[in-house]
Amino acid sequence: LEKEMARLDRLHLIGEMAAGIAHEIRNPMTTVRGFLQMSKSMPDAPMHQYVDLMVSELDRANEIITEFLTLAKNRTTNRYSQNLNVIIDALYPLIQAEALLSDKHVLLELHHCPNILLDEKEIRQLVLNLALNGLEAMEQGGNLTIRTYPKDDEVILEISDEGTGITDEILDKIGTPFFTTKSQGTGLGMAVCYSVAARHHASIHIKTSEQGTTFFVHFQSLP
Ligand code: ADP
Ligand code: MG
Repeated sequence: LEKEMARLDRLHLIGEMAAGIAHEIRNPMTTVRGFLQMSKSMPDAPMHQYVDLMVSELDRANEIITEFLTLAKNRTTNRYSQNLNVIIDALYPLIQAEALLSDKHVLLELHHCPNILLDEKEIRQLVLNLALNGLEAMEQGGNLTIRTYPKDDEVILEISDEGTGITDEILDKIGTPFFTTKSQGTGLGMAVCYSVAARHHASIHIKTSEQGTTFFVHFQSLP
C-alpha cells in the first residue's frame, strides 16, 4: 500500500513534469528540423530515406503528448456503465497486429463480466499500454494473454506475458513519469495506467517471475 501511495504522490507532481515534456518534444523537433534544413540546402540529395525516421520521431512526440494529456486531464472522467470485454474486443485487432509484427500471439480469455463504470478512452489506453509492455517484454515470440473475470464484487483484468520478469529495483520505479529501460520508451505508459486506475478507483497489482509478468487490474462492480 505504501508503494501504491508513493506512486500516487508522484502523479501529483505534474508541474514538475513540464520540463521533461519540453525536453522529450524538443528532441524529435530538432531531428526533423535538421533533416528539413538539410533537404533545403541539398535539393538533389535523396531525402526519402529519412522520411520514415522523421515520421517515427513525430509519432513519438505525438504519443508523448497524448499520454501527458491523459495524465494531466482534470479529475472528472467520463465514466458510464459498460462492458470491459467489449472494449477489449474492439482493441484486439490493434494488439494482434502489433504482436504479429514480432511473431507473438495474443490469447483472449474473456469471461462473462457484469458492466462497470468505465471511461472507454482511458481504459483503451490502460489496456493498450499494458499489452504493449507485455509484448515488448518478450524478446522472441511468446504469448500475451488478456483475461477478464468477475470475482466477489470485482471485475478483474489480467495481462500476462512470457518475458523474463521485472527486477525489484525496476519494480520500485515503475509508474514514475519518464522512467524507462527502453531506448525508444517514453516512460509514461505505466504512469498513465496508474492515473487511469486511480480515476476508476481500481487498483493495479504485479506478479512477476523469471517466467513472465502479470499485471492485475481490480475494478469495483456496480452495487
Ligand atoms: P516504456 O514502455 O515507454 O518504457 P512504461 O511506463 O510503459 O514506459 O514502462 C516503464 C518500464 O517498466 C519499462 O521500460 C520496463 O522496464 C518496465 N516494464 C513495464 N511493463 C513490463 C513488463 N510487462 N515486463 C517487464 N518490464 C516491464
Ligand atoms: Mg510502455
